[in-house]
Amino acid sequence: MKYPLFLDPVFKERIWGGTKLRDAFGYALPSERTGECWAVSAHAHGSSAVKTARWQERHLIKYGRITPEVFGFPDGKVFPLLVKLLDANMDLSVQVHPDDDYATLHENGDLGKTECWYIIDCKDDAELILGHHASTKEDFKRLMESGDWNGLLRRIKIKPRRFLYVPSGTLHALCEGTLVLEIQQNSDTTYRVYDYDRCNDQGQKRTLHIEKAMEVITIPHIDKVYAPEVKKVDNAVITAYVQSDYFSVYKWKISGRAVFPSHQTYLLGSVLSGSGRIVNHGIQYECNAGSHFILPAHFGEFSIEGTCELMISHP
Ligand code: ZN
Repeated sequence: MKYPLFLDPVFKERIWGGTKLRDAFGYALPSERTGECWAVSAHAHGSSAVKTARWQERHLIKYGRITPEVFGFPDGKVFPLLVKLLDANMDLSVQVHPDDDYATLHENGDLGKTECWYIIDCKDDAELILGHHASTKEDFKRLMESGDWNGLLRRIKIKPRRFLYVPSGTLHALCEGTLVLEIQQNSDTTYRVYDYDRCNDQGQKRTLHIEKAMEVITIPHIDKVYAPEVKKVDNAVITAYVQSDYFSVYKWKISGRAVFPSHQTYLLGSVLSGSGRIVNHGIQYECNAGSHFILPAHFGEFSIEGTCELMISHP
């Protein structure tokens, strides 16, 4: 019998973090500068714990290895995705991630990192950095070395509910006043290009990784935009944001009772707002804003009842 795996997230203190994860989801935060909630994570730098584990080993990173039938992939394969909530109370560093080939070669076999963002909430006039204005590597270096960040960085205005796809190689940064759900490859490799010359409480600047960054940044910038496709099924409005080589991402907006067919891959779910129940074989599993879960592969037909909005992803 298969059942949903509900997860305890891992929180990360960041110099740019705040308290919005508590305000929005009621989490008990470890710090007033909590920047990240690793909601569905099997990464060695912070693995979420399975609340409903029937095994002694509750951490997803190990759990996945002992229960391959949950995930439908053979024992030992790396869990491919990582779901996070991010509270950008201040600007994040301007950064870039490598692709799989580069990371395998230079980062001890870590995966590359293509990611995507769903803007849960943001302040009026919020923006973020996505791409740059340089047309050649020389151009990029010239603007960077002269400190002309305004000339180099491409800023775009954002609004709540916007979805953005950020392929590896894209220069990017979340900016102040933005609450985001991020779905990404299971990787923690970041090359920092610019950190606004900030210092931490000990007066130290964070390390930059200009050399590696210059090897992986896409120049000129290529904008990868997917048009969301919306369809209504029963009592669910389903928005498909992206179906890429790395992940597929959907939003399910449920009002009432919506039935979903059995799926061959596992699904990762995060409840953004409201509350409801997942019902399978007559058993009900409660979920509310801030819940994160995995529905195993071949979970069978199930329904979700209630009024809630969920982000759903799978590899
Ligand atoms: Zn990133």
